[in-house]
Amino acid sequence: MTDHRGSPAARACLQQVFGYSDFRGQQAEIIDCVTQGQDALVLMPTGGGKSLCYQIPALLRPGVGIVISPLIALMEDQVSALRQQGVRAAALNSTRSGAERAATLKAIHAGELDLLYIAPERLLGSDLLEQIAATEIALFAIDEAHCVSQWGHDFRPEYLQLGILGQRFPQVPRIALTATADHRTREEIQQQLLPENAQVFLASFDRPNLRYEVGLKEKPREQLLRFIQTRHAGESGIVYCMSRRGTEQTADWLNARGIPALAYHAGLEQETRQTHQSRFLREDGLVMVATVAFGMGIDKPDVRFVAHLDLPKTLESYYQETGRAGRDGLPAEAWMIYGLQDIYRIRQLSHQSSASEAHKRGEQGRLEALLSFCETSDCRRPALLAHFGEKHPGGCGQCDNCLNPPRTWDATDAARRLLSCVYRTGQRFGAGHVIDVLLGSEGPRAKSLGHDQLSTFGIGRDHPRATWQSIIRQLLAKGFLAPDPAGHGGLRLTDACRPLLRGEISVELREDLPQKAAPSTRKVTATDVAVDPDTWARLRAERRRLAEAEGVPPYVIFHDTTLLAMLEQRPASLAEFSQLPGVGQRKLERYGESFLKALADCEPA
Ligand code: ADP
Ligand code: ZN
Repeated sequence: MTDHRGSPAARACLQQVFGYSDFRGQQAEIIDCVTQGQDALVLMPTGGGKSLCYQIPALLRPGVGIVISPLIALMEDQVSALRQQGVRAAALNSTRSGAERAATLKAIHAGELDLLYIAPERLLGSDLLEQIAATEIALFAIDEAHCVSQWGHDFRPEYLQLGILGQRFPQVPRIALTATADHRTREEIQQQLLPENAQVFLASFDRPNLRYEVGLKEKPREQLLRFIQTRHAGESGIVYCMSRRGTEQTADWLNARGIPALAYHAGLEQETRQTHQSRFLREDGLVMVATVAFGMGIDKPDVRFVAHLDLPKTLESYYQETGRAGRDGLPAEAWMIYGLQDIYRIRQLSHQSSASEAHKRGEQGRLEALLSFCETSDCRRPALLAHFGEKHPGGCGQCDNCLNPPRTWDATDAARRLLSCVYRTGQRFGAGHVIDVLLGSEGPRAKSLGHDQLSTFGIGRDHPRATWQSIIRQLLAKGFLAPDPAGHGGLRLTDACRPLLRGEISVELREDLPQKAAPSTRKVTATDVAVDPDTWARLRAERRRLAEAEGVPPYVIFHDTTLLAMLEQRPASLAEFSQLPGVGQRKLERYGESFLKALADCEPA
């Protein structure tokens, strides 16, 4: 029988080394499974706590645990975090000198290393496997295991060769972990990296601490600025834009308005990219304005928001990109705005694709999923999680539609008038002109085209322009309208219109409201911060000081969760300090006194 609280040894390790009192989700079962020498596949969302699933077994089993990870930056962070906790960890990658490499190998042979982080090409492309064949290996952990999938966006050919580990070290348990859970990827991981009888641990992919909001694009930068100022002032966040130029312009624009921001895209010099990334990781309260080139392996736990100024490519990318917020489990926000142009572009993409029929259908399905997520009037979570084959009951209470239920209206009549206007103007004009005709605008264009003579001229005066735009956007999203194939920005009808025009079906549309001020101006960090901003600032300053002295990012010293607990519990002794989450034996010894002093300084007189 499995004890969901974990074995006594695992619990002791959790408390003493990592400073946590309870396992989360399936951690205890996974740790017991691997500690006993079995193989496991772990599918868990970002922030779910995957690292402990191999770190604790590596500490409990004799020998060194070998962690295969594709990203050097990530490796370095994890190694410094582990060392802070008193774990004997090292990394082997291209940034290490020959002397460091030799020292690491020596430590392995002497049995003085608990965890070794290594890139797959390093492990396979040298004689390292021979060299360690005689030493005891606690386990192999294959992180970011979805990199083995040739269909995924993070494919790494070296991952395909990792199957060799099973052949050469059949007695060493393997654990593969990923936050990508679609069915195909899962099967590929199982086939390529694990034995058939590996246990599969599949967690829910819901991120309960994330709040989703999707709004209409009006003045994108102003909307973004208001969002950051009212809800995330002084906090770290990522803003995704589609174009490289867009990232730079937006970053400049934010800087000019007092929000410290950096740009990141694949066209920047390698060195600039690296400095920007490391500043983002190390400094508090920076906003990174980036293309999708930024993100994989960003392990920063305190990203408080992810904003999209353009629609992501697919719902899956949206999930991955927004998933970078709130890794530490504290509340965080996923905020996105889009408009008619975005929907038009997506529809165009879906018509232009030159891929094979089968591929096209797959693509089509992905675009539909994204559109219906954007346009839904219901809770956003079911639409998002359906993507992972998960059923969510809805009513999450933490998305815009739950917090501020949108109104819908019967738009059948308006839609029919609009469609007939598109038809009568020849199915080659864009939204602007079609709306002009509906509103009966007496411009020279309508006249020269003879459109002022049409029966649909001026039949839409009962709605303002914005409403017609909203109708067009939604009819495009629902597939009643399509971009004209010539690609001049025109609109045409689709077959789906027939029953609507014949009066056989009706359409219900969402009433678009101009974006209101935030539904709540509650800062998403704990209320205590607002209650005692001085102490909070003092604790953060102390953390920054220590981080600079050690040359590590501040969250490697303590996560925000630990600082918040200090505010809340006000420990006055080392014994009390040791009870805080995230304070293990080693950190207690190293930092306990400094923070106790900072807290004492802030005691109200
Ligand atoms: P993942 O790799 O799945 O994204 P991490 O391993 O980085 O997640 O863990 C996410 C966060 O949760 C980290 O801040 C980690 O310290 C914290 N965490 C993990 N397990 C626990 C636990 N049992 N109790 C409290 N916090 C935990
Ligand atoms: Zn909801």
